Amino acid sequence: MKFADLGLSDELLKAVADAGYDEPTPIQAQAIPPVLMMKDIIGIAQTGTGKTASFVLPMIDILAHGRSRARMPRSLILEPTRELAAQVAENFEKYGKNHNLSMALLIGGVSMGDQVKDLEKGVDVLIATPGRLMDLFERGRILMSGCELLVIDEADRMLDMGFIPDIEEICSKLPATRQTMLFSATMPPPIKKLSDQFLNNPKSVEVSRPATANTSIDQSIIHVAPKAKRKLLYGILDNEGVDTAIIFCNRKTEVRDLCQQMRKDGFDAGQIHGDMDQSSRLAELERFKSGEINILCASDVAARGLDIKGVSHVVNYDIPWHPDDYIHRIGRTGRAGATGVAITFVTKRDDEHVDSIQKLTGMKLPVRDSKSVKPEKKQGGKKPAPEKPAAGKPKTDKPKQQRSDDQATDTKSRPKKSSKPPKPSPKSQPVDDADDDGWNGPVPGFLDAKLDR
Ligand code: AMP
Repeated sequence: MKFADLGLSDELLKAVADAGYDEPTPIQAQAIPPVLMMKDIIGIAQTGTGKTASFVLPMIDILAHGRSRARMPRSLILEPTRELAAQVAENFEKYGKNHNLSMALLIGGVSMGDQVKDLEKGVDVLIATPGRLMDLFERGRILMSGCELLVIDEADRMLDMGFIPDIEEICSKLPATRQTMLFSATMPPPIKKLSDQFLNNPKSVEVSRPATANTSIDQSIIHVAPKAKRKLLYGILDNEGVDTAIIFCNRKTEVRDLCQQMRKDGFDAGQIHGDMDQSSRLAELERFKSGEINILCASDVAARGLDIKGVSHVVNYDIPWHPDDYIHRIGRTGRAGATGVAITFVTKRDDEHVDSIQKLTGMKLPVRDSKSVKPEKKQGGKKPAPEKPAAGKPKTDKPKQQRSDDQATDTKSRPKKSSKPPKPSPKSQPVDDADDDGWNGPVPGFLDAKLDR
């Protein structure tokens, strides 16, 4: 199947070719034609499958004709988190570069004034988190009656975050004749109910879960005592060809503590969790994407669905409490054809969680002996032997930092991604992880971007 067979316009085909895509992914091949035929669809797919383009591409062609009116967006995409909303906006910019569509992003943590100004001008595409959208709606700043296209993305995540009542209310305010697309990695009963209520004779398109079908992720578990986790992590990072890694912890405090410790121990580590304000989260993500840091310590809510290319390793420092989160976490690696490694640390108390993950993924996770991981590298005060850099990445000549724990006499050689010295990490400020107004910093370009306006 080729992109040219899907019925997309020449302008879009050019943008897709410029993005470097050779052929549509299965969800794109299945979803794009019915969306172009104005059908409602339910897409059972998660991030990593190319699902964003499966709705963004046909939407651009559908919206190419027609004009936007003040305060009446022509289409609405609902995302559970600000990061995902910002990511979808980036996709619209990338694929819509040969079109003349206007876009606005309504997310918490960013000044409302600019968002309202955008709405006043009229937008073709509105990308929003439910909280901020309801807020503006209740203030009478937005009218939904011109919205002919609705996308509910990551519906199961919306459910986890308690957004379903908001979504029901939003759906009831849109015209009944609209086209609706709902995407979800799983179909729990409340999502099924939502789709029965608000979708019209939808076509279901389903792609297998990356976690079960994706043989490009080498998954394993390692039994380890809680106190030995950090040593084991360092052994993996030092010896197993780690280029870039996301380290998942279950608690925000653990993310923060681990990141701080890793930085003291000479790693180029950053953090992303729900206690950080929006600007800090985006800044940290940008540092990771640009290669300034190659290790990101993360919590689930902050990292869910993030499109970060080429992550070689995911380490579950804590096994996730919800099996769905396992699928989302390991989906950060082995993306779009690349191979990846996902290692999960398991303590004596975690058997129940291992069982539920195995049940959900339908596979038994191979167990690795912790002794199969070589110990972390120590130089004992000597100059380190030259070491082969991890695949294709430059090693830095940065002086090694002193160890901060009880092996403080050792310095270590760490896998580095970039030769730039790490900048201080953006300040973490406690804010509510739901939508909020705590934006302090400058607005990154793509957040208030318009498509070729
Ligand atoms: P998503 O599932 O939408 O988060 O997309 C996952 C990744 O796949 C993103 O980095 C996209 O840029 C990439 N992608 C989307 N469609 C294609 C395609 N047809 N070929 C190769 N990569 C793609």
